[in-house]
Amino acid sequence: MSATTGPGWVTASAPAKINLHLGVGRVRADGFHPLATVYQAIGLRDEVTVRPAPSYVVTVDGDERLPLDQVPADESNLAVRAAQLLARRHGVDEAVAVHISKNIPVAGGLAGGSADAAAALVACDALWELRLAREELVGLAAQLGSDVPFALLGGTAVGTGRGEVVVPAMAPGEYWWVVLGADFGLATPEVYRQFDALHASDQVAEPAIPEPLMEALRSHDVLRLGHTLRNDLETPAVTLHPEIEEMLGAGLAGTAVAALLSGSGPSCLFLCDGSGHAHYVAGELAERGYGPVVVTSGPVPGARVERIGGPR
Ligand code: ATP
Repeated sequence: MSATTGPGWVTASAPAKINLHLGVGRVRADGFHPLATVYQAIGLRDEVTVRPAPSYVVTVDGDERLPLDQVPADESNLAVRAAQLLARRHGVDEAVAVHISKNIPVAGGLAGGSADAAAALVACDALWELRLAREELVGLAAQLGSDVPFALLGGTAVGTGRGEVVVPAMAPGEYWWVVLGADFGLATPEVYRQFDALHASDQVAEPAIPEPLMEALRSHDVLRLGHTLRNDLETPAVTLHPEIEEMLGAGLAGTAVAALLSGSGPSCLFLCDGSGHAHYVAGELAERGYGPVVVTSGPVPGARVERIGGPR
């Protein structure tokens, strides 16, 4: 199929994710670690614009404080891979130019690449007028990466398998977060290798979703949630970069309700008791010389079309 009608371009957005719980099990024979995680989508969003082009190309712009040169500008970019996968599966022989407007820190444990892939799926689905059901897109998303299905879904959700099996969770109300970035990146595989090394000789329990955390979410109890946040990758990440411990401590000293490593790091998350408190904690961190800090809230919706350009 080669579309000669339809929109001239489509812009979609998708959110960053945080893990309120990240339980990691022993590495499987296929090299993946079984996970039991609780995701929340937060209000940092990347935008992806797709338009028909003679071949697949990708361009990136965005917040100038981000290391945009670390975002691949070739076909290894997850957004391009998402567009190509969708085209292949649905017999579309048209290529697209992909433009990414980045707001999500790169390699920060916030799944920015996965968000771009989810946004690209939704944008290309609209550009090519495929009108696929969300479940079909989720199936493709799971082939692109463990965090991509959640970037489509958004909200608050439980993730199992490698994180790609997602089920929405009941979590009324909003939560306020301060995200503290680092001036170094952490490669996810390196953090998992460190996890394996630290647990080489002990038993690793099957990862499970903790009921007290789900109960705190159901009752929107911020303080209780703070006591139940947990990330099994925090110790491995701190072992690799001890300054993470200092960052977490700085947020607690700045009165955050709780501190948590985001995914495989190095971004740190601070749970706050409302918007005013979050801005106060962000100010305290900035005053102590930590940054960049962003105040945001969750849960927010998953990938969605934002704008559609006029006919071709
Ligand atoms: P992971 O998803 O591996 O846990 P992360 O959440 O820490 O990673 P990302 O911003 O997704 O961080 O970047 C991880 C790596 O993915 C980058 O270093 C980059 O090489 C690669 N990558 C591929 N496509 C993209 C993209 N569209 N945006 C950002 N990074 C991308």
